[in-house]
Amino acid sequence: MDFDGYGIGGSFSKDDILGILDGVNRVLPANKPRHLLGIGEPEDIFIGVAAGVDTFDCVLPTRNGRTGGIYTKRGKIQIPNAEYREDWGPLDEGCGCPTCQNYTRAYVHHLFRTGEMLGPMLASAHNVYFLTHLVENIRASILDGTFENYREEFMSAYGKK
Ligand SMILES: [Zn+2]
Repeated sequence: MDFDGYGIGGSFSKDDILGILDGVNRVLPANKPRHLLGIGEPEDIFIGVAAGVDTFDCVLPTRNGRTGGIYTKRGKIQIPNAEYREDWGPLDEGCGCPTCQNYTRAYVHHLFRTGEMLGPMLASAHNVYFLTHLVENIRASILDGTFENYREEFMSAYGKK
C-alpha cells in the first residue's frame, strides 16, 4: 500500500537488525521515510542509519536515565556510582543540554543516592538531548558526505568499534 512512511519493528533481537533491514529495504520504496522502532543505543542508531533508516523511537534514553545510566561521548556511565560523588563536571563535557549547563555529576549523583525524583528527570533530559544531538550530527555528516568518518570518530570515542 502507498503509505506516507513505513515502520520497521516488532520483536526481533539486536543480532537480527541488519538481516531484517536488508530484507525489508529491498521491498520498501526508496522515496518514503523508514522508521525503526525500539532502537536507542548510539551504536545501533549508526547501524540503522547506514542501512537506510530515517527516524527512531525508543524507551532506552529515559529508561536508562531513570536508573542512572548516562550517555556520554566517552561511553555510558552509571551516575549513582561512588566515583561521581565529588565529580564537579557536567554529565557530559561540552553537552549543551539544560542538565549539563546547570548541574554537576556530583549533584545528580546525590539526587540518585537520596532517591530524589529530580535525579531521573535530569538524567533522562540529558539522554534525550544526547541522542537528538547525535542524530542531528549524523544528518549533517550525511549531507556533507562524511558519515563514515563521523561514525568511526564517534564510536572510537564512545568505546565501541
Ligand atoms: Zn547534557
